[in-house]
Amino acid sequence: MLCAALILGLILLAACGAAKPSSLTFQAMDTVMTLTVYGDDSACEQLRQQIEALDAALDVTDENSEIYRLNTARTAAISDSAADLLSRSLSYCARTDGRFDITVCPAVQAWGFLSGDYRVPDDSELAALADKIDYRAVTLDGRCAALSAEAQLDLGAVAKGYAADICSEYLRDTKAQAAVLNLGGTIALCGRKPDGSRFKVGVADPEAPAGYFGYLSLDQGIVATSGGYERYFEQDGVRYIHILDPATAAPVDNSTLSVTVVSDNGAYADALSTALFVMGPDKAADYYRRYGDLDYLILTDSGDLYITEGVYDDFSLVPGYNFTLHKISE
Ligand code: AMP
Ligand code: MG
Repeated sequence: MLCAALILGLILLAACGAAKPSSLTFQAMDTVMTLTVYGDDSACEQLRQQIEALDAALDVTDENSEIYRLNTARTAAISDSAADLLSRSLSYCARTDGRFDITVCPAVQAWGFLSGDYRVPDDSELAALADKIDYRAVTLDGRCAALSAEAQLDLGAVAKGYAADICSEYLRDTKAQAAVLNLGGTIALCGRKPDGSRFKVGVADPEAPAGYFGYLSLDQGIVATSGGYERYFEQDGVRYIHILDPATAAPVDNSTLSVTVVSDNGAYADALSTALFVMGPDKAADYYRRYGDLDYLILTDSGDLYITEGVYDDFSLVPGYNFTLHKISE
């Protein structure tokens, strides 16, 4: 009996150990990240180090980063992970017809989104900036990247998604049972929760981003959200957001308030949350019908919420939000 009691005790202890996650909150990639991992207490710290290394390589404002070096030297050998991200990013630029464009950097800078010294460039400056934006000025040959013309790279719109990919991959080889990695607007859901329940991800209310207008119940995947509310400034009563239309070099000014993309590929989800934001709901639906390899939610300022069929039934609206739901089918 003693033996049986001991074994039962050990099983309960093991169950408790597995059920109690470890978590870590820190700042990286210009945002606050919170990692929660079930079943492996050392994983959070390892993940933090990987994210910080990626941040150090990609941060366009850091003189020591690979991207800064490439922007100044115009040609450089870059690390395997930077090359992998650059190659994937270039394919997303092409697929989205340049709505997602990794050479928006000069425009992002001109509006003050990198420094915080916000200003509104005049029309002729904007025309000159728009001329400089063209992802086709970037070439990648193995690990050797080159920029022609006046192109400057900014991988800010995909960095968190790529970090989610690297972290998910890392966790696959550990004893971690499940994890929720909140990388500031981009959330990775890995493994299976100890109690077998699905992950519940809140979708931020653009009017009050600390709250959620709805929830997605998902088994796994990466959920990336882009919203004007994440970074913007106001001048003379006009709000200028940090997501720019590469065609005009100006902040997107359509009806979109936020775009949430769900995919197994984090870099893709992140790139597309930005690109679909630029497209707006109609062109986003065209993209979905053409490629169909992601799911999304798009909220507009008229209170319309467009949800693709793959996640339509996984979404629940918080009572009190009177949005009109539209199911987007392939
Ligand atoms: P996200 O929050 O993922 O939508 O990324 C937005 C960030 O990406 C901005 O703060 C800019 O640094 C950069 N960015 C803005 N507009 C674009 C665009 N159309 N394509 C690619 N990157 C962009
Ligand atoms: Mg993005």
